[in-house]
Amino acid sequence: MNILILGGGGREHALAWAIKQNPKCDRLIVAPGNAGIAAIAECAALNPEDGAEVVAFCEENAIDFVVVGPEAPLAAGVADALRGAGILCFGPSAEAARLESSKSFTKEVCDAAGAPTAGWARFSDLEAAKAHVRAQGAPIVVKADGLAAGKGVIVAMTLDEALAGLDEIFGGAFGAAGAEVVIEEFMAGEEASFFVLVDGETVLPIGTAQDHKRVGDGDTGPNTGGMGAYSPAPVLSPEIAEQALDRIVRPTMAEMARRGTPYQGVLYAGLMIENGVARLVEYNVRFGDPECQVLMMRLGAQALDLLLAAAEGRLAEARVNWAEDHALTVVMAARGYPGAYEKGSEIKGLDGLGEDSFAMVFHAGTRADGARILAQGGRVLNVTARGATLAEAQARAYAMVDAIDWPGGFCRRDIGWRAL
Ligand code: ATP
Repeated sequence: MNILILGGGGREHALAWAIKQNPKCDRLIVAPGNAGIAAIAECAALNPEDGAEVVAFCEENAIDFVVVGPEAPLAAGVADALRGAGILCFGPSAEAARLESSKSFTKEVCDAAGAPTAGWARFSDLEAAKAHVRAQGAPIVVKADGLAAGKGVIVAMTLDEALAGLDEIFGGAFGAAGAEVVIEEFMAGEEASFFVLVDGETVLPIGTAQDHKRVGDGDTGPNTGGMGAYSPAPVLSPEIAEQALDRIVRPTMAEMARRGTPYQGVLYAGLMIENGVARLVEYNVRFGDPECQVLMMRLGAQALDLLLAAAEGRLAEARVNWAEDHALTVVMAARGYPGAYEKGSEIKGLDGLGEDSFAMVFHAGTRADGARILAQGGRVLNVTARGATLAEAQARAYAMVDAIDWPGGFCRRDIGWRAL
């Protein structure tokens, strides 16, 4: 079959790498793609958020199946446009994608489903929000309601931080995403990510992961889009995973179906685990980046069969063929990230790393200049490896990092520390 993947980061490189290994895949196109993806698939210039443009492209290129990587095209209704045109698509409708694009919507759905999450209140007025924060006290969490690329959340340890956060959000720092504010009870515990596929009805777990948000070793420095990840996450034990399915994920999915907006695609549940109890922090309606890289490395070619089963409503008969393995990915970023960084530095040593089904460098922000590979973004490479143990996966990943010659880049040296 002919397959189109929308997106152009490390997540989409990992999806392309896994899908390409499946003999069902004939032609693979990624839009917009990147320099690493170009080595294994065709890249197409296309606006992934424009439903009409994506549909027209699919019709011209006889695309049989579309996999949507990032959240923005989903929130923009691209999956609806594709399904409306009779094109098979992996990814939720715009209405179901509100589980990521609106925090208050998610809270309402969780309350209706009885899914455990932090206590919350919603405000569209600054003074009322401030009065609530003063009454509740710190620590407390203040969030812009809409999508703000992970920057609209203030985990306030003091009252002053919470009040300043409200001023910032209502002051317009996040535009329309901050027209409403959700104020949440602070949850303590350890965070982990739980990934399931959903076909509208059936929920199929496909793995757990933990990421590393801070830029520096030992979880220090500013927040980033993620500096590394590993799978599985030991804190999300089989018992906790079962509990999260029973109390959180399945009830939420049943509530979405009851509302007439069943969910189809991957659902990424961010969980907070404390004393053997899991509560929901947030849902995302797409794979995490870089969590997708470790999941795809573990799933390999069967990923395509699973995504197809979700899109075609056949998850009840689908099975994951688990290898009892571990995968770990180290993000290499341009010096200066997450602050200002330079673009255009050359990355050498990528050839001859001996990439195979146990070790791959997925490209995030790269650009080809003839035969040279140049850094083109903040997070640039995802050096990913798999092993019988996490320690083995970690050693393999860092051996590749050390073989890459890129003075303009850096990485954390402690990815996986929580589990090791
Ligand atoms: P991202 O895209 O980075 O996941 P987001 O904008 O979708 O962020 P959330 O996931 O809701 O926002 O919050 C970001 C982070 O803030 C969480 O990963 C968690 O560490 C912390 N956080 C959010 N809500 C709470 C809470 N109620 N208690 C404690 N920590 C929280």
